[in-house]
Order: sequence, then C-alpha cells, then structure tokens
Amino acid sequence: MNRILQILSLSILIFLYSCDPDQNSNINQGPDTITIDSLKIHRKVLIIGIDGFRSDVMQESMTPFMFALQNKNSYYNVIHETEEITYSGPNWTSMLTGVNQNKHNVLDNSFENYNYNDYPPFFYYLNQANIGIQTSSIVNWTPINNYVLSDYSDYAPENSMNDLTVFENAKQILLEENPLDVDVLFLQFDELDGAGHSYGFSPTTEEYVNTANTIDSYASELYNIIENKRLKGEDWMFTIISDHGGEGTSHSDGSHPDVNRTIFFAEHPDIQFKADCCYFSNQADLAPTVFDFIGVSSSHFNNNTDGLTIIE
Ligand SMILES: [Zn+2]
Repeated sequence: MNRILQILSLSILIFLYSCDPDQNSNINQGPDTITIDSLKIHRKVLIIGIDGFRSDVMQESMTPFMFALQNKNSYYNVIHETEEITYSGPNWTSMLTGVNQNKHNVLDNSFENYNYNDYPPFFYYLNQANIGIQTSSIVNWTPINNYVLSDYSDYAPENSMNDLTVFENAKQILLEENPLDVDVLFLQFDELDGAGHSYGFSPTTEEYVNTANTIDSYASELYNIIENKRLKGEDWMFTIISDHGGEGTSHSDGSHPDVNRTIFFAEHPDIQFKADCCYFSNQADLAPTVFDFIGVSSSHFNNNTDGLTIIE
C-alpha cells in the first residue's frame, strides 16, 4: 500500500508538471502520468483471442458455451467492428494498443511499420505502473508476441505452438501459477482462421464449425477455472475477442459484412457493462476496458486511445 501511495503522490507531481502548456505540442511529450486505483488493482483479466471468428457461428449447436455466455452478466457484441484492413496484424495490434490502424500503422501481417514508440501495447503501461502486475501472452500466431507483446510481458513465448498447446499452457498458468502468478493473461487461438482459409469461413462448413466447437470447449474449461478462482475470492473479468470474420476462404474484403463483423464478449458477475443492444464495440475498446477494470490509468494512453471502455 505504501508503494501505491508513493505512486499516487508521484503521479500528482507529474501531473502538475505536465500541465505546462508548452508540453502540449506532442501528445506523448512530457512525463506520463500513471495513476492506480487501489480498490481495483488486485483484479485480474483473462482475454481469449480467437482468430477468424465469424460471429454467425455463435449458435447453440456450434459454440454452446459462448451461446450460453450471453445469458450471464455480460457484454456481447456479434457485430464487433474490425479495422478497415481486415488482416490479422492490424486488428490484433488495435486491440492490444487501443488505437486504430492509422495510428499504430500496422497495415498488413509484416508489422514492419509498427509505430511502437508512440503506441505501445497496453502491457507496456502495466510495466510502467511498476507495481508488480504480472502479464503473459500465449499465442499460436507468433507475430503477436514477436512484434507487439514480448518486450513488455513477463512471460510470452515466441515459439510456434498449436491451439491445444496454447490451451494447456493457459491451464498450467491459471491452475499451477507456473511459470507465473498472472494478473493479465492474453491468449490467441489461430486454428479457426486456418480452417476458414482451407475450407471456408462459414457456419455451413463442417471443418470451420468443428474447429469453432473445439475452441469453444477450451473457452468453457477456462471459464470454469475462472469461476473456481472467483469462489476463492479472486476478482476476474473474462473476455473473448476476435480479429475478423471471413467470407469464402478469405478475410481480405473489409467491405463484406461477414468479414468486418466479429465478436467481443466481456463477463463479470457484478460489473455493469454498456448495454449490448446499444453500444457497438470496435477493436480499440479492449485495452481501455482492461485499464478501467484493473484501475490503471495513463495520461499518454488516454490522450492516444481511440477506444472506450465498455464498463459503465
Ligand atoms: Zn486473423
């Protein structure tokens, strides 16, 4: 607690300093002001990223866990809006940085022009808070860790692994705190995107639906682990998000509604979320939602972000 009070005092000092009008020529100039809400900072977040989830497979017969999750105390949006460029790279980067593609500048899957100096991933700010928040990212599609998260994560393997191994790693972390007692855990499953490219992104394609069903069962088991942790007093928000849908065997045509609409879920037993009927999320909303939930605020991030928290 003393540490938190020190940070709060320091934050107030930094804030006064950064109010100098001469500092405003560049949004990232001047020291960052990071504040911590001591009432929220113990909270934890699981983010399940599913690559290529076209939201019309969220049917009871195909993804029963996600279908039932709608009836929990949750936010869900099956027309969650993608970036204009509907490749994986731009969309995962928008989720993880809280800004749109015109700022982070990841416009394809090469990540070669990523402006990480101005728009680092939200894990960066959790590091800057310097209060021991433990972060981990376990991904099948390794560019996410290679280019965006690994420099700022406490545990983010950069070797390729299949979805089952992502799932097994996640279980090991959550159940055994091995190799870390995680506060924010990001996962990315990629085999649904692979099934879409090979067989077609569609609720009428058996391979695509079967893969969605398998990932749904992983999400269900991880949710049960989170529920058990809640019974032990841990305060977790559970989220599921996807980067894009698909049409035919492609997801490059962002004008197609089945490509540019995907899914975003957030669930917590007693958080008030923005009504799912009336607020339509986009990729930049994930990071501000995580910050809002765990009570971390950065002035640089707040100045930059294109997203909004979905928590009321
Ligand atoms: Zn993708």
